[in-house]
Parts: sequence; C-alpha cells; structure tokens
Amino acid sequence: MAKYREPAREIDITGEYDVVVVGGGVAGSVAAIASARNKAKTLLIEQFGFLGGTATASLMNNINGFRNQVEPDGTQTVKGIAEEIILRLKEIGGLGKSPYKQKDYPTTKGNLSYSYCIDPEKFKYTVLDMAVESDVDVLFHSYFSMPILEKDKIKGIIVENKSGRTAIAAKIVIDATGDGDVAARAGAPFWEAKHEDKKLVDGLMYKISGIKDAPFANCRYGDSSVVWGPAMVWGHNDAWEISHSEIATRLEVYNHFKHVLDANPGLKASGAYVAETPVMLGIRQTRFIESEYKLTADDAITGRRFEDVVAISSAPIINYYGYRRFLTHEGYDIPYRSLVPRKIDNVVITGRCISSEQQPFESHRSMAPMMAIGQASGTAAALCAKGGVVPRKLDVKLLQKTLKDQGQELRI
Ligand SMILES: Cc1cc2nc3c(=O)[nH]c(=O)nc-3n(C[C@H](O)[C@H](O)[C@H](O)COP(=O)(O)OP(=O)(O)OC[C@H]3O[C@@H](n4cnc5c(N)ncnc54)[C@H](O)[C@@H]3O)c2cc1C
Repeated sequence: MAKYREPAREIDITGEYDVVVVGGGVAGSVAAIASARNKAKTLLIEQFGFLGGTATASLMNNINGFRNQVEPDGTQTVKGIAEEIILRLKEIGGLGKSPYKQKDYPTTKGNLSYSYCIDPEKFKYTVLDMAVESDVDVLFHSYFSMPILEKDKIKGIIVENKSGRTAIAAKIVIDATGDGDVAARAGAPFWEAKHEDKKLVDGLMYKISGIKDAPFANCRYGDSSVVWGPAMVWGHNDAWEISHSEIATRLEVYNHFKHVLDANPGLKASGAYVAETPVMLGIRQTRFIESEYKLTADDAITGRRFEDVVAISSAPIINYYGYRRFLTHEGYDIPYRSLVPRKIDNVVITGRCISSEQQPFESHRSMAPMMAIGQASGTAAALCAKGGVVPRKLDVKLLQKTLKDQGQELRI
C-alpha cells in the first residue's frame, strides 16, 4: 500500500481527567457513572450524540442476564447501577415484556427477571440523566483516534471532532469501544475469531410501527416493536468491511419485512410498516483483548468462582456448538484480571472485548452482565486514579468492598 507521512504538529490539550471512558455503550456509560460516583473527575467520549451504543444506536432493545433464564435462578446475579437503570425505567414506563420464556419476578430491588425489553428513547434519557447527575462530563460527536503513550503507559488520548484534533490527558483510560480500539492501538495483544469459525453474526435490527392489536411476540413498546432483521457476515474493524455489511443488510430490510408480514397476517392486517432503521448495524463481536486472565468455556460451564471476582454472568451461552446452552448453576465469576490488558498500563477494559474465549463471551455479552462489568471497570479506574496505582497493582479487596458497598452482587 502507498504511504503518506503525516506532518507532526502541536495540538491543544483540552482537558485533564482522572478517568477518561472511551465509548458510551451500556458498559462505558455504567463505567463512567461508577467512576464519577467514586469521586474521580470523569470524561465520557462517544462518537454519537446519545448513550447506549448497541442498545440504542443499533436498536437492540432486549436486556438479558439479570439472573439465570431457567432454574436454578434463585440469585439475581446483576444488581448495582444496572438494576437502578431498570427500576428508573419502570418508573417512567420504559420497560416492556421480554419475548423470552422466563419466570417473571416483580421488578423491585433484588427481584428482577432474567430479561426486559426497553424503550430505546427512555433508555437514552435515563442513562444520560444518571451520567449528568453523577457529574460525568460527556463529550459527544467525538471519535477516539490514538492513545498518547509513554513507553507502555497510556497518558491520555487524541480525539477528532468539530473542534479539530485535540489531546485529553488521563490518569486511567477505560476502553469501552466494544472493539478494543484503545488497547489495540496502544499495542495490547488481542485475538479475533477467524472468518470460518465465527460464531455470532452481525444483524440489522429495525423498528416497525402501526402494530395495533396484532399478536407479535418481539420487544414491543407502544404501537411499535423491534424486529431481529437481516443478519450478515460478521464484525470487522475495517471501515470498508463495516460499510459493505451496512449496505448489504440495509438493502435487504424491505424484503425481510415482506417475509415478516407473510408469517404474521395480523401485522399485515394492522397496516404495520418499517418506521426506522438503526443508526448503526449491530456488531456482536470483534477483538478480544488479551488480559491477565482469559475466561474459558470450562469456567462458564462449571460456574467457576474466582478470588478476584468483580461481576457475575448467569446468561445462557447462545450458540454452544449450535444450541442455546443454559447454565446449570447460578452464574460464573468474572475476575478482575480479565479487565486488565497485558503489556499496557493505565488502561482498564470493559464491555464485550474483555479477555475471553468464544463460549463464555456468548454468555457475558448479554447487556446485564455487560453493565456489571462496566461498574467494576469504572470503580477500579477511579480507585487507581485516586490511589496513584496502575490497574495491575490495584488492591482487589478494596475494589470488591467498594463494589459490594455500592450494591454490586459478588457472592463473597
Ligand atoms: C444483533 C444483536 C443482537 C443482540 N441480542 C442481544 C439480546 O437479545 N440481549 C442482550 O442482552 N444482548 C444482546 N446483544 C449483545 C449486546 O447488545 C452487546 O454485547 C452489548 O450491547 C455490548 O455493549 P458494549 O458497551 O460493550 O459495546 P457497544 O454497544 O458496542 O458500545 C460501544 C460504544 O463505543 C462507541 N465507540 C466505538 N468506537 C469508538 C471510537 N473510536 N470513538 C468514540 N466512540 C466509539 C460506540 O459508538 C458505542 O456507543 C446483541 C447484539 C447484537 C449486535
């Protein structure tokens, strides 16, 4: 490939923070809230003009994994900030009935069901409200470009936005991009599933309205519902490949809806129509950053407990050698070490790119455990920044005590 040498130049340092969170998906938003509530000066950077990531920008309106979907389901494994979001959504009529088969719990503190549908607009509102209320500085329409490195230590990041290219200094950076953009560009090792053994494909959700009384089992809110739309190829970190996937799935939407109407005569009779396609194709998996501990299939299947537990996942593995495998226990632990990348210091990983093999990822990718992992990452980053320690050296007992005091379920 031909090369162009970009000229070096001085740029402004527009902010200095204890913690900078890159990416405002469910994991990053909760991480930022947790960090700020733990008194760290926190900045949240997001490429879009709202929070939620896949949950809102990709219209993935079904939050799974607050407890096991089937028995044994006696433990609500995700509490803390994630639970707070659900209870706030309930207050403003932002929850819908999940299409999944599950036992219904009363949706009170400590009594959440396995899964909820959310109204994406109310979700955007609630999460942003909680971030602002917690004193998170939110910088929208800003794209992470490069980490600022001193040897193997991150000292901040460079972003591109309407103001141009600027630098932001940070004691700790949380990589919540879903794709591990920050850690990978800093030189942390990572792995990706190969094309041929790719497990979870990308999918374009879309919204239909005008449903009226038609029986349609998907996530409904008001007169609308989401449809699990055209599924294609798989997640990439290459702009052209993402673009090709967007084009292929978007051009298929009306054809897909025609099949939905054919299969659901009630929808046809009610005059249902495609009301909205999402801002972004839903990308399920890309990079997994190699960290101090990589979660294994055996950990998930046997329900392994770890001394450095910081979150729990009890959601099923959605494609275990071709079938939905429910866990026969009440969840496996996510260890703190899975959030600390190898080689690079001052970064904490959160969300779908934490260190994991394919099988456990297919459980803890569910948005409830993603938010619990977010709370763990944000709390860890705040403690590191305040204590002047690198994430690798953080006192895990202090982190666990702080998480427990702030409502996270840890079973210790
Ligand atoms: C089609 C599909 C169906 C799914 N079904 C379910 C389901 O039924 N139930 C369930 O619980 N989960 C489901 N999931 C999984 C779940 O939605 C994801 O695992 C979860 O939302 C990931 O959250 P995250 O915060 O880690 O990442 P993301 O949601 O990917 O968020 C990353 C955020 O970072 C931002 N960002 C990325 N790069 C940059 C950059 N360079 N600069 C600035 N900002 C950046 C993005 O805009 C985004 O807001 C599904 C996912 C897909 C795609």
